[in-house]
Amino acid sequence: MTYKAEYIWIDGTQPTAKLRSKTKILADGAELPVWGFDGSSTSQAEGHASDRVLKPVASYPDPIRGGAHVLVLCEVFDIDGTPHESNTRAALRETSERYADQESLFGIEQEYTFFQGARPLGFPEGGFPAPQGGYYCGVGADEIFGRAVVEKHLDNCLAAGLTLSGINAEVMPGQWEFQVGPLSPLEVADQLWVARWLLYRTAEDFGISATLDPKPVKGDWNGAGAHTNFSTKAMREGYEAVVEAAEALGRDGKPLEHIKHYGAGVESRLTGAHETAPWNEYSYGVSDRGASVRIPWQVEVDKKGYIEDRRPNANVDPYVVTRLIVDTCAAALEK
Ligand code: ADP
Ligand code: MN
Ligand code: MN
Ligand code: MN
Ligand code: MN
Repeated sequence: MTYKAEYIWIDGTQPTAKLRSKTKILADGAELPVWGFDGSSTSQAEGHASDRVLKPVASYPDPIRGGAHVLVLCEVFDIDGTPHESNTRAALRETSERYADQESLFGIEQEYTFFQGARPLGFPEGGFPAPQGGYYCGVGADEIFGRAVVEKHLDNCLAAGLTLSGINAEVMPGQWEFQVGPLSPLEVADQLWVARWLLYRTAEDFGISATLDPKPVKGDWNGAGAHTNFSTKAMREGYEAVVEAAEALGRDGKPLEHIKHYGAGVESRLTGAHETAPWNEYSYGVSDRGASVRIPWQVEVDKKGYIEDRRPNANVDPYVVTRLIVDTCAAALEK
């Protein structure tokens, strides 16, 4: 007997990487081997030296195929064993190791938008739906578009053993959110990439596509973000560390250093309108959804907890955003 292993990796497409996958048939009980692929077809190599290496780093029960089949998340390496330049997970491994004693946790809110053909799901042909207002956490066929896909995606994520904390309908029709975490930096980023793969794969069977475009519709419609919630052990134990983390993100050129890597097109989403802060002005505040970083009101009441970095785009690389936040905040808290 055999089982199917779906090898999933992140490609070299610029400015936003895409997910790729292919299937390997393995003998029952066989371990997951290193594998290869044609990097010239994924913006990860030139044609004359095209071989790239897939190294399994995490595997999950495959909820689509069921049985003993698995999803296998991989890192990409050159044939000499160095991480490929598109491999952003390699740098996160080092950073999370360096600050392991601070026990960082992340919860990432992934917003996304369904499309059918060229239009967001729920947008009428050649026009616009009623303005925003009733769609967020709505109910009913006049407000909700794609729930069957969303429910199936959630079930698939749970069956794969992913730690999701919830889902909700978003402010624009056809726009939704799921939350992954709280988990360690590597776990949250791995699981978010796999949850994204499952989103595309689940929607595919409904003839629907999903996009992480940060501003899928121009004009007076909310963009799509990936609010990144963060804590260390010290922050979960006391308020001083919570404030210090929020302060650290605003010091010494950090705001721009972070923003540059918070997803392509971040300036188009962080305009100061639609529950965002302007991309070039750092601010933080309690309960403030117009700030770059929010301290949830409950955190201020409890005098401990976490902060929410509201700036990352939906299309952010979770390996990068978690590395930057740990690098900035854990370094500041170490002092
Ligand atoms: P909202 O929409 O109000 O901003 P959500 O409920 O969508 O909030 O998301 C909150 C996120 O915060 C969840 O992903 C959750 O896992 C995460 N979270 C909760 N506690 C912590 C913590 N101590 N450290 C990091 N993340 C946390
Ligand atoms: Mn071939
Ligand atoms: Mn949310
Ligand atoms: Mn949201
Ligand atoms: Mn949020």
